[in-house]
Amino acid sequence: MAEWEAVVGLEVHVHLKTRTKMFCRCALEYGAHENTRTCPVCLAFPGALPVPNAKAIEHTIKLGLALECEIAEHAVFARKNYFYPDLPKGYQISQYEKPLCGRGRFLLPTAGGDEEIGIERAHLEEDAAKTVHAGGETGRTIGAEYSLVDFNRGGTPLLEIVSRPDIRSADQALRYLRLLRQTIVELGISDAEMEKGTMRADVNVSVRERGENGFRPRWELKNMNSFTFIGRGIEAAVRQQVAAYEAGKTLEQSTYDYDPDLDRLTVHRSKEEADDYRYFPEPDLVPVDPPRELVERLRGELPKLPAARIRRIAKELSVAAADELVSTGNDHKAQLLAERGVDWQTAANVAMNEPDFLDANAAAIAAIVKARDTLTREAYDGAFAAARSVSIDAAEYLAQIAVSDTGELDPVIESILAANPQQVETYRGGKEGVLGFFVGQVMKETGGKADPKVVNELLREKLKA
Ligand SMILES: [Zn+2]
Repeated sequence: MAEWEAVVGLEVHVHLKTRTKMFCRCALEYGAHENTRTCPVCLAFPGALPVPNAKAIEHTIKLGLALECEIAEHAVFARKNYFYPDLPKGYQISQYEKPLCGRGRFLLPTAGGDEEIGIERAHLEEDAAKTVHAGGETGRTIGAEYSLVDFNRGGTPLLEIVSRPDIRSADQALRYLRLLRQTIVELGISDAEMEKGTMRADVNVSVRERGENGFRPRWELKNMNSFTFIGRGIEAAVRQQVAAYEAGKTLEQSTYDYDPDLDRLTVHRSKEEADDYRYFPEPDLVPVDPPRELVERLRGELPKLPAARIRRIAKELSVAAADELVSTGNDHKAQLLAERGVDWQTAANVAMNEPDFLDANAAAIAAIVKARDTLTREAYDGAFAAARSVSIDAAEYLAQIAVSDTGELDPVIESILAANPQQVETYRGGKEGVLGFFVGQVMKETGGKADPKVVNELLREKLKA
């Protein structure tokens, strides 16, 4: 039987974080009352003229630089013509032949080295308004009693990032999306929240036999807004396409919906002919020629990106552990501790499991972490509790040494055992859970200063007798 491979390309859309819309001065505000953030430009009154949002252009260039894209010297806005009730102009202003960001690449760190996903382009456009289908059961057009349009969203700056069809599995698609999302968020250009609709993706899936050149017709999943469903949708598409080819069928390019209940794709509409949007350069806008100084300034503003940080930490830990630290935003804390002599494994554990601390407390926390085996639990927890909000002095906590001296603990334990003969019998009768009761008593008696590890050992030994 043939060996099949998935061929996946992703088109990711994110709303850019700007104060105002793409081509007018209306405020961008989520949750504002319907149709209160509109003006003649975004409602497409005759004669109203668009003016591009400089911040949105800067955000797009920043993303392009992060994805190693060629930044255009001459980008052109274009009209994409189509009719829809949420598109009052009858066209969307987008970029077509000359996008702001051309070919680039995104590297996904893995245990086996970097996986390279090619970037075809990243361009800037405006989002359409939002149609709400009301009165039906499904929330979809069919079956709705009426539809309403909220123009607040119309004209929101939208960045579209188009990957090349380099993705070979659902798992890789999700790793690409997660790292891309984190990169976008850390660049500060978008919140990229799928639940809020500020990030969504079109997913293109086809399959081919391993070793085969060229591409077979693809299925498109539009406007996906959940990582889980994107992963399942890709897997379902691959399953269904392979089954069809193995049954001797041919497939055509179509748009599909993912049905989570059936875990299957159902055809949305088949494309008898390619969409024809009659693109042409937007006559109301001059081309964008980003000055080199601007591009270089933005390059200088790029933070150290998540992929680079994973690669760096993977030299100390596994790629999986590095990825976990970075994707949860805990790598900075681990780095601070590692720089102060805490071994990486411990630094990672502390960063993942203990409360946050102020950067200024890094040295004190590192000293406390290094001494943790000798400190009382109280001192250790107390240091972390304080370190999140005020500057702490390590010495104060380091003085609280746990009592691990058996000579000191012996009499305490003896007297507790003597005072609780019933529980001693219970333990010796096989119910080892009672040990916790004794440990609790010892901790109480010593004011929390006993080393629990030593107490456990001593108790077990004495109860054996
Ligand atoms: Zn407006």
